[in-house]
Amino acid sequence: MSKDKQFVKEITPQAEDFSRWYIDVIKKADLMDYSPVRGCIVFKPDGYELWELCQRELDARFKETGHRNAYFPLFIPESFFQKEKEHVEGFNPELPWVTEAAGEQLEERLAIRPTSETMIGHMYAKWIQSYRDLPVLINQWANVVRWEKRTLPFLRTSEFLWQEGHTAHETEEEARKETLQMLEIYRDFVENFLAIPVIVGQKTPSEKFAGAKDTYSIEAMMKDGRAVQAGTSHYMGTNFAEAFDIKYLDRDNQLQHAFTTSWGVSTRLIGALIMVHGDDRGLNLPPKVAPTQVVMIPIGPAKTRDQVVARTDELFAELKQAGIRVKVDDRSDQSPGWKFNEYEMRGVPVRLELGPRDMEKGQCVLVSRVTGEKRMVQQDQLVEEVQKLLDETQQELYERAKQFMADRFRSVDELDELKAAMEEERGFFLAGWCGSASCEHQVKEEAGATSRNIPFEVTEHKSKCLVCGENAQHTVVFAKAY
Ligand code: AMP
Repeated sequence: MSKDKQFVKEITPQAEDFSRWYIDVIKKADLMDYSPVRGCIVFKPDGYELWELCQRELDARFKETGHRNAYFPLFIPESFFQKEKEHVEGFNPELPWVTEAAGEQLEERLAIRPTSETMIGHMYAKWIQSYRDLPVLINQWANVVRWEKRTLPFLRTSEFLWQEGHTAHETEEEARKETLQMLEIYRDFVENFLAIPVIVGQKTPSEKFAGAKDTYSIEAMMKDGRAVQAGTSHYMGTNFAEAFDIKYLDRDNQLQHAFTTSWGVSTRLIGALIMVHGDDRGLNLPPKVAPTQVVMIPIGPAKTRDQVVARTDELFAELKQAGIRVKVDDRSDQSPGWKFNEYEMRGVPVRLELGPRDMEKGQCVLVSRVTGEKRMVQQDQLVEEVQKLLDETQQELYERAKQFMADRFRSVDELDELKAAMEEERGFFLAGWCGSASCEHQVKEEAGATSRNIPFEVTEHKSKCLVCGENAQHTVVFAKAY
């Protein structure tokens, strides 16, 4: 066995140690590396490409709904943070400060942005004078810094890449509509592009964004039963407009505060993608987000090699022409078996094998990464057959993840029941909640589970709070989260 083959085999099985498995996979698939700065990672090309594909897809959806991109500065004056009380309290513990530049002490400390509501609020106050200036629909692709205590590659890093949308509107109704529209864009993107099913709902007050009136989220379940908040959309009311003086003359010539929103998803999505679909062999990428959708591997003895490679190249051109992300691995210094393992580990959805006997019959073999199924297909129908298998793979991954979440989605009535269930197996737990922060806190303290959200759609409405037994105001999903 070659050294490289052993390398692939080193992935720790999920059942043995899920965290170890995660780190093994992202390192072996060469997605990232640790940097010398605590909590900050390097996105290597194979990891960054996943983000680029997410970016491309999301960006198109933002633009379709009327948003445009802009860019605001990385540094935010300290005084900006003081303007919105909840915002400063929420973010202060995580802020890194620049106090000195070019050898001189700065007159005012500058925060490295953890999010840009304050800077953007300041600018919108200058740009918005009249109802004619509204709505403002801007998105920014950027890096932000939150000095996190616990970090985990992609899922929680001190510096991360994200997009943050910031909009301003004439009315509450319009701003609320925007908030939910963007939440729906996230849901659709995460479910249909990343093949990750999510629970859509509203955050409880203690889990909402610092300074928001209402926060909504999509929550995904990882293969160890833990939750990942995959995206958030915030309705700010006039909180930031009041703090930053974003006022406009309305249609009756009255001065009004604008209603604002913000919404974001980050490179955390890459972590979720790996933890939802990956298995003991490595990554398992849904075709829509796979940088390589098909890998072509010519096989057979040396004497027919040139012919097989030449035919492979012709078929490659056809697939590429059809818009399929395809690559040929015709290296002769690695065996086909080694290559099969390698591309499985990297999560390439479809492998195409072509040998001399297939050539004679005008056929080739397609192998699915997800099911392991082998399909003999006619070369003259290759594009359609590949497209079909890619579509099926996308659907299969989504269905599997959905089934997994359904199997680990339980309903509980009391805190003790939740504690026992959590110890047995992690998952999402639907429970009644009276609405008090202390009951919510007790769940966190005793069961190690936080409220994920109050789902828009539930299979059952719970009538009693799981902690105090009083009437439930809401039916909430609790889980241990990343
Ligand atoms: P927020 O501004 O707190 O609503 O966060 C916006 C998005 O960024 C959410 O989807 C979060 O899941 C994600 N996010 C928050 N903190 C981090 C972090 N430290 N690393 C990666 N993603 C994060």
